[in-house]
Amino acid sequence: MHEYSVVSSLIELCEEHARKNNAFKIEKIVVGIGERSGMDKSLFLSAFETFREESSVCKDAVLDIIEEKVELECKDCNFRFTPQNIDYGICPHCKGKNLDIIKGREMNLLSLEMIGETD
Ligand SMILES: [Zn+2]
Repeated sequence: MHEYSVVSSLIELCEEHARKNNAFKIEKIVVGIGERSGMDKSLFLSAFETFREESSVCKDAVLDIIEEKVELECKDCNFRFTPQNIDYGICPHCKGKNLDIIKGREMNLLSLEMIGETD
């Protein structure tokens, strides 16, 4: 399942951030999932529940998922916009059809709340 490999690399990424910041625990993970990423939010959550058990850093972390809208860029006039519906295809600026999805196809780690070493 796609979600499992994405969550697995998300946990690795979180552990890396924790190491760099000398944190021993992550309390909260906020990710953005694009509406065209093909990922299922509930599958993503259950994959997270499974993987965090194996990570001492992420074990007690809460996962917050923010759904990100698709953003398009017109290759003809470089106009960027968020389409109103999923059947997009025409640039509202120049009516061009050369559109690129520049956002909304991936998963992004947005923020982490960590607990550092106490002295
Ligand atoms: Zn355009």
